[in-house]
Amino acid sequence: MSAPLIATIEAGGTKMVAALTSGPADIRVRERIATTTPSETIEALISFFKGAAAEHGAPAALAIGTFGPADIDPASATYGHITSTPKPGWADIDFLGPIKEALGVPAIFETDVNAALFGEARWGAAAGLKNAAYFTIGTGIGGAVMIGGQLIHGMGHSEMGHMRISRHPEDSFAGSCSFHGDCLEGLASGSAIEARWGKPAEKLPADHLAWKIETDYLAQACLNLLTIAPPERIILGGGVMHQAHLFPMIRARLKEHLNGYLSHAPLKGNLSDFIVPPFLGDNAGLLGCVALAHTLTR
Ligand code: ZN
Repeated sequence: MSAPLIATIEAGGTKMVAALTSGPADIRVRERIATTTPSETIEALISFFKGAAAEHGAPAALAIGTFGPADIDPASATYGHITSTPKPGWADIDFLGPIKEALGVPAIFETDVNAALFGEARWGAAAGLKNAAYFTIGTGIGGAVMIGGQLIHGMGHSEMGHMRISRHPEDSFAGSCSFHGDCLEGLASGSAIEARWGKPAEKLPADHLAWKIETDYLAQACLNLLTIAPPERIILGGGVMHQAHLFPMIRARLKEHLNGYLSHAPLKGNLSDFIVPPFLGDNAGLLGCVALAHTLTR
């Protein structure tokens, strides 16, 4: 029997990517929908899925991987809501409810980075692992951790992008996080790089001081994660990580930060299997939603 069709939404602050798919080899139809007002955007998503279902068959479930902060606790009265987002008009909006009702199927709601990690664990860079983590380093920084095959939830979802790290001695930039100044996101996100150097990450040459500083911050983030919820592999994705020269630099710096302290097998050698890029690329969120929805339809 083939896997059931799933309605998926990868929800970002500027665009939504909606698709009807059963897995990596079967993406029936996909569409980008601009994120405007909640009512307009939700209406466009419902209309897309109705049309897609008429043409390709009805979905068995719905899964949304969303920007946040969002309520991802199924036991909560506001499950499926966007919560305290600064995005105008979207705070305290029921995002999942109206779409679930329109499609009449079981539904699951997760953060975008949790969905991406779940997808990578099913079909990508963390396939076969029970313990893995994902950082996305783009305009902001998000993180996800899976332990024992389960995405870590708690009181809300992880906000690893806002962890504290030590400042690099050659960095005098104040930090760009509007809440904390020089947290990880405030020092190492794509926005922080652009604000510090006056140009975007992709315009900085590979030998620029920016990368030495960035490497140190991301290695510290990986070290902190290793001390709290040790994964067998850490995936680093997002726009900033398109600078492929960062990977060997971060591995080497993490080795220095570890200073021989942990001796687990994945931490031996040059860490080329421990710090890795995503495998599913731009499809990670979408396919993660499929993998999450399949947990509902089994
Ligand atoms: Zn912060």
